[in-house]
Amino acid sequence: MKIFIDPGHGGPDPGAVGNGVTEEFVNLNVALELERLLREAGYETMIYRTTSDENVLENKNADLRNRAQMANNWNADYFISIHTNSSVRPDAQGVEAYVYRLGGTSERLAQSIVNSISNELGSRNRGVMQANFAVLRRTNMPAVLVELGYLTNSTEALNLNSPAWQRAVAAAIFNGIVNAVGLPRPR
Ligand SMILES: [Zn+2]
Repeated sequence: MKIFIDPGHGGPDPGAVGNGVTEEFVNLNVALELERLLREAGYETMIYRTTSDENVLENKNADLRNRAQMANNWNADYFISIHTNSSVRPDAQGVEAYVYRLGGTSERLAQSIVNSISNELGSRNRGVMQANFAVLRRTNMPAVLVELGYLTNSTEALNLNSPAWQRAVAAAIFNGIVNAVGLPRPR
């Protein structure tokens, strides 16, 4: 079973910034830990970037196309994009996920990941919503974009910046994936 992991942003685009914490690094740390857990469990994985700027294109739209294209060319079974949120309201908090269309495998997978993060880490469960994001629209396989929490919320920014919390949320995403799609057959 092939899982493509997309750590959001990187290169010229740091993503959201809040309370001194920058999104691209949170996304990357969580994605790398998620990849480690998936490989250990026998999934095949591909990750878009393992550093701040690896593979990341200067042009934002071209870069988003490139992420989807790489997953499509590899024939990934599932696409997981990892992001961190921001809001003009400092009290906004919680975990949410996006899919291109509600009602299918993507939504089941997204719901499982969001529930797992909320149950295991106590984050407010903001549910699964539909969004016309390029990486969701352009991927040929079930695709989920998860927003782990809000950098603009001081409590969540502390968590998102903590290596222990990053490992815990990666484990929660892993459990959400296993619960939704099952473990790979032993090779
Ligand atoms: Zn983002």
